[in-house]
Amino acid sequence: MPSTIEKLCEERKIRLTENRRIVARVVAQSDDHPDVEEVYRRALKINPRIGVATVYRALNMFEELGLIARHDFLGRGKSRYEKLESEEHHDHLVDISTNEVHEFYNEELEKLKEKIARDHGFDLVGHRLELYCRPLKNK
Ligand SMILES: [Zn+2]
Repeated sequence: MPSTIEKLCEERKIRLTENRRIVARVVAQSDDHPDVEEVYRRALKINPRIGVATVYRALNMFEELGLIARHDFLGRGKSRYEKLESEEHHDHLVDISTNEVHEFYNEELEKLKEKIARDHGFDLVGHRLELYCRPLKNK
């Protein structure tokens, strides 16, 4: 089954090599915001001969095309990727003890973001929010 990323490329008449398709599929199937090394590890399971440079280039290409999102959680210069399903927006909560990323959506918060932009005379067109957290001790 072709992934959404592959379908979008097809719609835009962008030809994908088999290795790029593999990268597209790996990202489409990942819910954990993998970094380049992790995407590479998963791609290797599908094609043991794929190179890390190919994975890098494919990820850059998909990002430039706006088909996947790149995050630099905690501003550490380590890119992590996720598929972009255009209409479903979410924010991220980063567990700084494990680097695990959790997704959340909060209606009130979304309204507040729009209100803040409006109050400053702007129309909100995009936003990102990352919360850096540590697990509660007695949970
Ligand atoms: Zn996410």
